[in-house]
Amino acid sequence: MTHEFMKQALRAILENSDDMIFLKDENLVYQGASKPFIKLTGNSSESDIVGHTDTEVFEDKNLANRYILDDHRLLARGEDLVNYIEPIPSDDKKARYGSTSKYILRNEDGKVCGILGITRDVTRDYLVRQQYQREFKYLFELPENTYAVCYIDVDSWRVICQRRQKIEKGTLQECCTVDEICSCALESIADKDSEAYHFYKCFRADVLNDIYEQGKKYINFKYERKLSDGSVRWVRNEINFLTDADSGHLCVMLSAKDISAVKDEEKRLEKAAKLDAMTSVFNREATMEHIRRILSEYNDKQHALFMIDIDNFKGLNDTLGHQAGDEFLIGFAQKLKKHFRETDVVGRIGGDEFFVFVRNISETVQVENKAGDILDIVRSVASNYLQVELSGSIGVSRYPENGNTVEELYACSDTALYQAKKSGKNQYVFAK
Ligand code: GH3
Ligand code: MG
Repeated sequence: MTHEFMKQALRAILENSDDMIFLKDENLVYQGASKPFIKLTGNSSESDIVGHTDTEVFEDKNLANRYILDDHRLLARGEDLVNYIEPIPSDDKKARYGSTSKYILRNEDGKVCGILGITRDVTRDYLVRQQYQREFKYLFELPENTYAVCYIDVDSWRVICQRRQKIEKGTLQECCTVDEICSCALESIADKDSEAYHFYKCFRADVLNDIYEQGKKYINFKYERKLSDGSVRWVRNEINFLTDADSGHLCVMLSAKDISAVKDEEKRLEKAAKLDAMTSVFNREATMEHIRRILSEYNDKQHALFMIDIDNFKGLNDTLGHQAGDEFLIGFAQKLKKHFRETDVVGRIGGDEFFVFVRNISETVQVENKAGDILDIVRSVASNYLQVELSGSIGVSRYPENGNTVEELYACSDTALYQAKKSGKNQYVFAK
């Protein structure tokens, strides 16, 4: 092969290669570069590079220095560098990785005469592999509270690998094929209107490919699921989309984690926010809200609102101390709650004031009986504090007779309660 022939061949490679190729002489001065390499340096033509060193070619001086040091090290060791992965400059902010090889060029006498560098952009493969490895570790060790992880090849519609474990009583149903996984999921998802149900209903290669192509790499949803032992638990599904590092196929990694404990805690907190911290009956806001809801849902029925205030409660605090006062309120609230139905509303409005809202009560005598029951409850709790004369006063209003809204009923009961106090306490008074 002639020298001219080799020169033409090299020129064709530099002109046409998709790889970033450079040639430097023994003084690390550029002698040639491929188009992608010129672009990498931020220059526009080969003449910006040829005849220059890294310090002149790269704007980023740290980077230039690093390349120079690398070259010196290469030449000092006298060994080619093959396929090492390194981050490479990118014109947007996205990470970019290259696989670089640097070959030491020698003349016929074996003397170093330059370096040939070839960098291939491997960003896509590198990121895929990184994600793949991250996801893949779950197939060897399931995280805590995770029932199962399943690795599915979407393109060949196969379960490649899966792992499951029992948590407390149960686990998810054992499945061998992708279709089985879907039908088990559909069968055991409690809410047939949930996002999860719709997802599994459309669990097909074309749909999954569409999702992936829209740029989604991750989906998750929470739902209630029946387990193999028949118990129902809250589960969070995570679906990670990834490209298999070997086959290049679209794959999904499905995982199912038990989140019942988290859900229970959420419910507990939600409930706690509605309860009066001391007496554990509904607080003022929750009481009003419950009554409001009942009034709107059952506006064709008759209801009664009892507003109770303990008589001479200050006397109890003053005589036996605040702690005894607290105990009285707790005991009274609990007895009150126990006496009425779950569907009635018992709440503490503040201080020694309570509401009882009795649903679906029409006869006056029934309402009178309920008021009498409440006064009895006050007396029975008061019997533990005989040093103080305690009783209760009640203002009673009725829906729809005295008002249509909780606010109107409240105002009527309040006025009636005032009358009960004024006329000697220890009694109930109906709103006019
Ligand atoms: P009346 O017979 O007119 O109802 O007077 P009362 O002594 O019951 O006093 P009133 O209803 O006007 O006020 C309620 C008192 O209850 C005021 C306050 O000192 C006391 N109190 C309010 N909240 C608490 C509480 O959480 N614990 C205790 N121990 N006392 C409270
Ligand atoms: Mg009072």
